[in-house]
Amino acid sequence: MARIVIAGSMNIDILSTMKRAPRAGETVNGDTVAFMPGGKGLNQAVAAAQLGGEVAFVGRLGRDAFGDQVEAFFREKGIDTGHIVRSTAQPTANAIIFVDGTAENRIVVIPAANGETSPEDVATVAIAPGDVLVSQFEIPRTTIAAFFRRGRAAGARTVLNAAPALDDAPADLWLDTDILVVNETELGHFAGASVAADAPVVQVADAARRLFRRDGQTVVATLGARGAVAVAAGGEVLVPGRPVKAVDTTGAGDCFVGALAARLAAGDALPEAMRYANVAASIAVTRVGTGTAMPTADEVAAALA
Ligand code: ADP
Repeated sequence: MARIVIAGSMNIDILSTMKRAPRAGETVNGDTVAFMPGGKGLNQAVAAAQLGGEVAFVGRLGRDAFGDQVEAFFREKGIDTGHIVRSTAQPTANAIIFVDGTAENRIVVIPAANGETSPEDVATVAIAPGDVLVSQFEIPRTTIAAFFRRGRAAGARTVLNAAPALDDAPADLWLDTDILVVNETELGHFAGASVAADAPVVQVADAARRLFRRDGQTVVATLGARGAVAVAAGGEVLVPGRPVKAVDTTGAGDCFVGALAARLAAGDALPEAMRYANVAASIAVTRVGTGTAMPTADEVAAALA
């Protein structure tokens, strides 16, 4: 079976709740704290593995207890950790999240070891024809470019989730991307034209076409509750959203990307893989959390039945 090889970020999210967040110079007592595996790379790997994919991960952790927690979590999910490097200089990345009594978030992300993920780290992982390579913008772009270059040369397919929408990417990375997955904010950022959350699909497709850099590329725009649309030179495929009672949409895009990669590796054509990913992500939004909110293959199968 084709593998899903992900080069990406791994965090421990430190989620604390409090009645009121502290002002500068102030100390408050909080109510709860939880240490949860997160980060876009990790979330996507967990989604892909739980949905039946054979997943290998490339990335960096610190030599600390948080790093041990992430590795143990990956092993529990059956993810190959053989290409995870322990940094000597940097700790494991964190997202420090304050949630106050009005459910307002304040988040600080510290990339730490993720920022050290290097072209050498992606140089030795096994890549076979048909494998699906996945990355996101929480590790250095030059590393992703080296990873995708190797992947394309080896006959693998490359899926870039250009998130978060910060700066631009090296020209060769865009060229080496087969499937680009973006939400409406990221699409607007990279297309250089803002795309409203309720923009008509024709407008989304026009913006998506501006991101083509060579023949054969596909842009998949996720549209939140409205579903997702794939845009290729030959036309568009729209997958309408599945109506659910959403409670926490954090990580919805990660679930979509992980599920898409799992189904592409299993041999699905893109429209089928998108329909599956749309259902998987609609289940993830009915639960609180990110890495721990990803559905299982049985849950998606039941929703599709
Ligand atoms: P991101 O999390 O990156 O902002 P989106 O909000 O576009 O991405 O969500 C990704 C996917 O998750 C959507 O394409 C859809 O399949 C699913 N999804 C997101 N929000 C909802 C929702 N409210 N109801 C049903 N599905 C949703």
